[in-house]
Amino acid sequence: MNDAYKGSCLCGAVTFTVNGFNEKAANCHCTMCRKFHGAAYGTSVGVVGLNWISGIDYLKEFIALNGTIRTFCYECGSSLGFRVKGTSLSEIELAIATFDSEIPVVIDAHIYIDNKASWCALQDELPKYNKGR
Ligand SMILES: [Zn+2]
Ligand SMILES: [Zn+2]
Repeated sequence: MNDAYKGSCLCGAVTFTVNGFNEKAANCHCTMCRKFHGAAYGTSVGVVGLNWISGIDYLKEFIALNGTIRTFCYECGSSLGFRVKGTSLSEIELAIATFDSEIPVVIDAHIYIDNKASWCALQDELPKYNKGR
């Protein structure tokens, strides 16, 4: 457990650890990420060795018309993760902001810029993709 990274939802009911991360993560400006996170964009990261520590019974899923599955805490509403149609909970990409400490992940792109809000100014030099990369 020493090398595990811990994350949690806002109310603290849901906690989890992971052992590692995908190297890359992108800020996604698609309409669904914006709505789901209630934010300018959402950022999810693929993880290795996910272990739900507590609150798995607090997880609720929303399945969009395109079949993508978004998981959140039904107590506090925290956006916890995203996965593609037909995958299991073990394959979830986690919402990066739910981690409770620094994690070794670098955001390397903005995606779905076609849907970016006009009030969201991007002042970094990262590559920008109109849709996915
Ligand atoms: Zn919660
Ligand atoms: Zn998105």
